[in-house]
Amino acid sequence: MSTLKYLVIHCTDTPEGREVTKADIERWHIKERGWSRVGYSDMIHIDGCLENLIAFNQDNTVDNWEISNGAKGFNGVARHVVYVGGCDKNFNPKDTRTPEQINALEVYVRYMILRHPDIKVVGHNELSSKACPSFNVGDWLRSLCIPCKHIGR
Ligand SMILES: [Zn+2]
Repeated sequence: MSTLKYLVIHCTDTPEGREVTKADIERWHIKERGWSRVGYSDMIHIDGCLENLIAFNQDNTVDNWEISNGAKGFNGVARHVVYVGGCDKNFNPKDTRTPEQINALEVYVRYMILRHPDIKVVGHNELSSKACPSFNVGDWLRSLCIPCKHIGR
């Protein structure tokens, strides 16, 4: 177990307006990709509701039972949150966050920073070469006046 260092933001990489369930994520990650655990601790639905996928406590360490497999090489020091969406109808990357999802994600990020004063918030695309989460996390955090120490790697 190690100190929690990153909050990583993801998208489900699914077309705008299509809902995704916990069972979908489990099927994709565990059954189809063969991972031991899904890639996200929490999921923000289209209506802004937050759903827990992997339990975790509020301390500053990532215990083995809390690990989600969201970004290879970082999972021991990261917590992963995903919003439903992230591409257009043709599967091209697109920031499809609804106002409700943006609001929920902002609350989520602010709470994580309060709870973990040294945490850094990054997009999946800052840890590996992917489009996920289909928006520039750093720019968004700056627009919310999140302190620099929490932005980027
Ligand atoms: Zn991702």
